[in-house]
Amino acid sequence: MYQYNVASRDANEFIADEEIRSSLNEAVKLAQDKDYVAGLLAKAREYKGLSHREAAVLLEIDDDEIIAQMFKIAKKVKEKIYGKRIVLFAPLYLSSYCVNNCKYCGYKCSNKIGRYQLSQEEVREEVRALETLGHKRLLLEAGEDDERCPIEYILECIKTIYNEKFANGAIRRVNVDIAATSVENYRKLKEAGIGTYILFQETYHKPTYLDMHRGPKQNYEWHTEAMDRAMQGGIDDVGIGALFGLYDYRYETVGLLMHAEHLEAVYGVGPHTISVPRLLPAYGVDYDQFPYLVNDRDFKKLVAVIRLAVPYTGMILSTRETAEFRKELLEVGISQMSAGSCVGVGGYAQRAKAEAEGCEEKPQFDLADHRKPLDVIKGLVKDGYVPSYCTACYREGRTGDRFMALAKTGEIANCCLPNALLTFEEYLNDYADEELTEMGRKMIDEEIKTVPNEKQRAKALEYLRRIRQGERDLRF
Ligand code: SF4
Ligand code: SF4
Repeated sequence: MYQYNVASRDANEFIADEEIRSSLNEAVKLAQDKDYVAGLLAKAREYKGLSHREAAVLLEIDDDEIIAQMFKIAKKVKEKIYGKRIVLFAPLYLSSYCVNNCKYCGYKCSNKIGRYQLSQEEVREEVRALETLGHKRLLLEAGEDDERCPIEYILECIKTIYNEKFANGAIRRVNVDIAATSVENYRKLKEAGIGTYILFQETYHKPTYLDMHRGPKQNYEWHTEAMDRAMQGGIDDVGIGALFGLYDYRYETVGLLMHAEHLEAVYGVGPHTISVPRLLPAYGVDYDQFPYLVNDRDFKKLVAVIRLAVPYTGMILSTRETAEFRKELLEVGISQMSAGSCVGVGGYAQRAKAEAEGCEEKPQFDLADHRKPLDVIKGLVKDGYVPSYCTACYREGRTGDRFMALAKTGEIANCCLPNALLTFEEYLNDYADEELTEMGRKMIDEEIKTVPNEKQRAKALEYLRRIRQGERDLRF
């Protein structure tokens, strides 16, 4: 029986396997039709987005010339909506205790590694270390363990983080990536002032999902319907994602887009962000059991297709990718990335911890980009991007549909660019070396002239002057 229903609350109906397969089958034929493909690209060029069925056709394209065209259009779409700013954040691991045994993860409970959970004092130390690096936006991560790591612990950590101000540093936005939970707990997270609730689906292919997971996370419906519960709990900025490499990347991308369409259909607002982690080495993970690993060419293609399909959704990349490849992905769609990440508990304060059972601590996965934020930022500036520590939207109440309305009319550019420049100026004053200060000032003075709205431009110049005189946290 064909069950697909975008507006259903049942995961098996809004991510119906039959609909994904039918989209992919139809795409094989349509991808051969040059006029049809040209029509899709023309639609994408107008920032109109693409349906999951249309995106499936572009995912099927194997012709180098058409792929190059897709990259060019994705770049144009990205520049039009996001300009040159790249939002930076850091993950903060609170606890590596986990009751699940996900086959692909270094924190799976069968891995005999040292486990650790930060105390509130240690959270403060981590935050001070992160603030010293210039970070303003964190993504909290924790393994699933209701006994050791209940929601009350997460809420306490959020409070500690927002309260910890060090020198000119402050964490202004805490996003949270914790296991699927109840409406009631999502409401508590909302009340604690989180920015985005992020949860990766890992895989939209249910048989693979069931095979990959053991423990409470194996409940496919509970996990897949988490964003619905988050929305019901009042969180209107949610971030979805798939771990590419667990199953066929075309299937996953179509599933992701169907998830986005579902949220839009039911709650009137699609996902705030889409993350694109790719399966890469982690301690204790045997790669022979993953036949769907995604190569660079296909990965870049899927990033571009997502950018074309959902032009207004932020796209997040982690430090799992190499610096060179991150650069290519920034061009075709990525708008946010982590910088100077530690993916072990307590990593920022560089403590040698978690020696429980005589084991050394292992991170959740290995990183490819080991650069410090300062070097990541220099690299961005050299490539013409404006590094942004902006956290303004949620603090100004621009979340959910209010945010999307501004994004879809392009008006958000009047906030994004000046906010990027103001937060970059703060960074230069508080954390940069001489080389970056010189490069950065030059960039800021040039870019501020390009703020589209005249009034905003004048105000931005005034704010910039005040930041240079020592004020902080001026924003649009
Ligand atoms: Fe635990 Fe998350 Fe790792 Fe699964 S992916 S083992 S839930 S930390
Ligand atoms: Fe993000 Fe809003 Fe800041 Fe733009 S203005 S970078 S959308 S928080």
